[in-house]
Amino acid sequence: MEYDLLIVGGGINGCAIAREASLYGLKVLLVEKDDLASHTSSASTKLIHGGLRYLESYEFRLVREALHERERLLSAAPHLIRPMTFVLPHAHSVRPWWMVRTGLYLYDVLAGTSSLPRSRVLHARDRTFTDPLKGDHKGFVYSDAWVDDSRLTLANAVDAAAHDAEIATRTELLSARRGGDGWTAELSDGRTVQARMLVNAAGPWVAKLLERLHVTTRSRVRLVKGSHIVVPRLFEGEHAYILQQPDRRIVFAIPYEGGFTEIGTTDVPVQRPEDAVCSDEEVRYLCEAVNRYFTRQITEADVVSKWSGVRPLHDDGEARAQNVTRDYVLETDSEGPPLLSVFGGKITTARALAEEAMEKIAPLLGIEHRHKTRARMFPGGAIASFDDWLAKAQARWPFLGAYRAQRMAHAYGRCMEDMLRGIGDEAGMGQDLGGGLTEVEVRWMRDHEWARTAEDVLWRRSKIGLHAMPGMTERVERVLAE
Ligand SMILES: Cc1cc2nc3c(=O)[nH]c(=O)nc-3n(C[C@H](O)[C@H](O)[C@H](O)COP(=O)(O)OP(=O)(O)OC[C@H]3O[C@@H](n4cnc5c(N)ncnc54)[C@H](O)[C@@H]3O)c2cc1C
Repeated sequence: MEYDLLIVGGGINGCAIAREASLYGLKVLLVEKDDLASHTSSASTKLIHGGLRYLESYEFRLVREALHERERLLSAAPHLIRPMTFVLPHAHSVRPWWMVRTGLYLYDVLAGTSSLPRSRVLHARDRTFTDPLKGDHKGFVYSDAWVDDSRLTLANAVDAAAHDAEIATRTELLSARRGGDGWTAELSDGRTVQARMLVNAAGPWVAKLLERLHVTTRSRVRLVKGSHIVVPRLFEGEHAYILQQPDRRIVFAIPYEGGFTEIGTTDVPVQRPEDAVCSDEEVRYLCEAVNRYFTRQITEADVVSKWSGVRPLHDDGEARAQNVTRDYVLETDSEGPPLLSVFGGKITTARALAEEAMEKIAPLLGIEHRHKTRARMFPGGAIASFDDWLAKAQARWPFLGAYRAQRMAHAYGRCMEDMLRGIGDEAGMGQDLGGGLTEVEVRWMRDHEWARTAEDVLWRRSKIGLHAMPGMTERVERVLAE
């Protein structure tokens, strides 16, 4: 058999399973029909969080697991994930004070020992938090974390590849059939490959892939679209806001890429993964959601960027889209060569999901199960204190300038040391393709991170697309084609 495991889907879940499995020494092939993280895993709110809101639907197990993962991930990828303070203005007509206070207390308890500050009420001295807000300034402050979702997905794939996993992007699984001791799969690159086991981590396409495989499962998927908008910075500071809405939903306003604010999200049931398009109605909803709270008012004309993703939620029969569980279900089918399908999940819990997937996969492949990634750093993540390391990086490569050094340090962590080895001045970085993005960086993305198009570079491996300049796409494409 050529491969032990054929994983379909290069989102966070497929890449996390590839990482975990490759650390067992399994021979892994991951196929992704587009780019890594090109669908849901780059379209999230980008929070590593327990999900305060899920306490309302009594999802204590999920919240506890996610909060424990938050702590692990903060130390395993300190360049990609950073602590963030959240301001929660009080809205008595939506939820009474005692309810929010109790929820936050429970959130702290479920987190257990945490490196993040515990929740508290807003004080009069919190002027930076309250100044941008309308009305009276009652409310709460609590902590969670922010993540570069596409790059965390990529970090999983890079670690998997370092342990000999084969990552095939722009490669679709067209069909697969069960044979005597494995699966035979047809790929869009013309190959026919064989694997002992198949993993369906196709996210919103999980059901479509099952159809292709002629397999039926007990679990069903519910597709729920969520959109975000980006506007020029709404407020100063590195903290975020969580804003309760009259329909009981919550909308986040989060600092984004220096000069911007990210606002989201919505919950709209959809029929197909391809329906992930941010509608005018969603843009209006998100503008109104922040206008209820901030003195600075925004309109559709302020929107500089937007994205939409489809949550592949496990269908638990809940009537309202916003209340459908965010927990995941792993279903195995071992009528012949085994198949494992992933329903649901979150960026935050992908590592735990992969660990649980391996608990199921190991006995099916006749290997012993052991935890591999609980205390494992992500590539570039071996950094004790990010601020100290950033200061050293700025001193070591002064020609980068403060802003670019910070951007690159967050994106690559210590992998920057390999990227910039032997480079002592700006000339060594090659041509500036625009916005401080140089030839050296784009070549790194091409050679180490599977970047193939300008979009892969400008919108997923970086967000420099937000500052795009005329001719930049063509210049990036030229370097990619070298
Ligand atoms: C609006 C929104 C906000 C969210 N916010 C958060 C948040 O703040 N924090 C958090 O933890 N989680 C959040 N989530 C959840 C999280 O983003 C998702 O659970 C996660 O990204 C799903 O990852 P996935 O790997 O299952 O799916 P995907 O990322 O969609 O990956 C599946 C991949 O499979 C590929 N594929 C499908 N069929 C085939 C085939 N036949 N051959 C090859 N490849 C195939 C697709 O191209 C796709 O790239 C949010 C989700 C949404 C939509």
